[in-house]
Amino acid sequence: MNFYSTNNRNHTTDLKTAVLKGLAPDKGLYMPEEFPVLPAEFWNNIKGKSMGEIGFEMLKPFFCPTIPEDKFRAMVNDAFNFEVPVVKVTDNISAMELFHGPTLAFKDVGARFLARVMSYFASNEKEINVLVATSGDTGSAVANGFLGVNGVNVHILYPSGLVSKLQELQFTTLGQNITAYEVSGVFDDCQRMVKEAFLDSELNSQKVLTSANSINLARFMPQSVYYVYALSQIPQERWKDVVVSVPSGNFGDITAGLVAWKMGMPVKRFIAAINANRVFADYLQCGEYKPKKSIATIANAMDVGDPSNFARVLELFHGSVDEIRDLISSYSYNDAEIGETMNSTLSDTGYTLDPHGAVGFAALRDHMKDGEFGLFLETAHPAKFIDTVEKYTGKKIEIPSRLQKFAEGTKKTVPIAADYKILKDKLLNK
Ligand SMILES: *Cc1c(COP(=O)(O)O)cnc(C)c1O
Repeated sequence: MNFYSTNNRNHTTDLKTAVLKGLAPDKGLYMPEEFPVLPAEFWNNIKGKSMGEIGFEMLKPFFCPTIPEDKFRAMVNDAFNFEVPVVKVTDNISAMELFHGPTLAFKDVGARFLARVMSYFASNEKEINVLVATSGDTGSAVANGFLGVNGVNVHILYPSGLVSKLQELQFTTLGQNITAYEVSGVFDDCQRMVKEAFLDSELNSQKVLTSANSINLARFMPQSVYYVYALSQIPQERWKDVVVSVPSGNFGDITAGLVAWKMGMPVKRFIAAINANRVFADYLQCGEYKPKKSIATIANAMDVGDPSNFARVLELFHGSVDEIRDLISSYSYNDAEIGETMNSTLSDTGYTLDPHGAVGFAALRDHMKDGEFGLFLETAHPAKFIDTVEKYTGKKIEIPSRLQKFAEGTKKTVPIAADYKILKDKLLNK
């Protein structure tokens, strides 16, 4: 299958180019040319299947035969090597727990899958160099997703002293094909240096450079799989009542859910649950998209004022706000409301929400209709946001051993000034 740019339907390219470039030359996002609807037989047989089996069936039309089926099956099984359980929180609301991967957040799914797809394209020719600037979370998911993957070197730039200790250890202790550059500067310096590298024709003539950011279609597409896997854990007679609530920032996660819906996933409707960055809720209300500067909140992975995947959402609904409104509603919660939700949910149900999942839960609690079944995405483990969760709930949070394990590693970084020339020399092994 080919992929087109959201800025121009006539600009199409193949899978390899779409994955290695990430963004189309006209700055549009790549979209698959079609979404095959999976037959009733598929839906009637998902119960009891593994996420790898469901993933292979769902993703095969987009990635095969460019990637041969047997290789692709192994890649999918390898990427989905952890559980996504559906856990009951109240009588009619359940959590889809996406934090059982290596860095305890859903971004592990996209990063692990993308790493394996890139490695496939690397194996025939030159090594691929992935460059990322991070303020914390992306670095850890990408580093752990790509760790030990053949043919791909990962270069992570982060601002020295401006990332939490535990986050820093998640991408500076790994070694192997992961290099962490500790930049004397702020996040914007890191981002600027990465951008300069992509624009440097001399560097690009000698090295294959690519990015692993969430714009990449091979990062968001695999996320469609866990929606269906979660559904397989819910009795089939309830599917028509299911409301899926997605804590949203850049809207990659909900776009993946909408892809599953396009492919025939028989749920009732979606909620885009957002923090005080309420651009999407305002869009549904007034029909006009007005990007804003982002506001800092306690659900900080969702602090986005101009969601990059909005273009993909529009594309899925032929640019029609009315079509979007028929399937999706959106509710915004401020920090006080998010904190109150974490606190009351823990005392009423015993379930500990993280600040992002809390937004998804609150939207269901406040806006579900009679007879509906709520399913929200618990996008990260509460221990990743331990200070916030403990502050609002007044309870001690236990740090899971696999998060604690990072703290036992030894930090190893390449300290550099916030100067692109120095980075370039390092990349060229000068
Ligand atoms: C990235 C992230 C989100 C937002 O996901 P988008 O795909 O950007 O909408 C929500 N919760 C957590 C914990 C995240 O890391």
